[in-house]
Amino acid sequence: MAETYAVRNIRLCTKDCLCLYVCPTGATDTENSVIDTDRCNGCGACAAACPSMAISMVPKAYPPQQPKTIEVINALRSLAQRKAQAENTAALLPGKLAAALEKSNRIMLEDIFRESGYMLPQSATAHQLLEDALIHETGDAFPAEACRALLKSLDWNEMIDNHS
Ligand code: SF4
Ligand code: SF4
Repeated sequence: MAETYAVRNIRLCTKDCLCLYVCPTGATDTENSVIDTDRCNGCGACAAACPSMAISMVPKAYPPQQPKTIEVINALRSLAQRKAQAENTAALLPGKLAAALEKSNRIMLEDIFRESGYMLPQSATAHQLLEDALIHETGDAFPAEACRALLKSLDWNEMIDNHS
């Protein structure tokens, strides 16, 4: 079984503190509520004890990205283009219905890319996105340090496909 570590969703945490009592290493007891991955041994006791389902066990290494065939890539592009066109068309129209259509097409477009694996942490495209952002996003508001830390901490394991 893959090695895992525990991650706490702060939004779901209701501070029942059961995870503090069951953790054998003290990894759940931190000042900032973020579980200490260096101390976590992946036993899963905290996730099993949490009444709020606030803790998830996350694999240390993500499974390799599946290679995409040219047929799948072409179908994805075609679908994405249609959603982008629908979004642009709706943007030209007045009224709340058009605004809702514009937004829903954008969400569907993002879902298409997310569900096809292009935005998974281990995908080459996600890393390319971060690297491009570091080059092009020069404004003060851009979190460059966080971007560099993400690039350093996320191993990508996708075979580069010249078609994608
Ligand atoms: S057991 Fe769950 S709800 Fe309680 S403190 Fe831990 S993470 Fe939060
Ligand atoms: S998985 Fe085990 S070691 Fe890691 S934080 Fe939860 S209880 Fe502690």
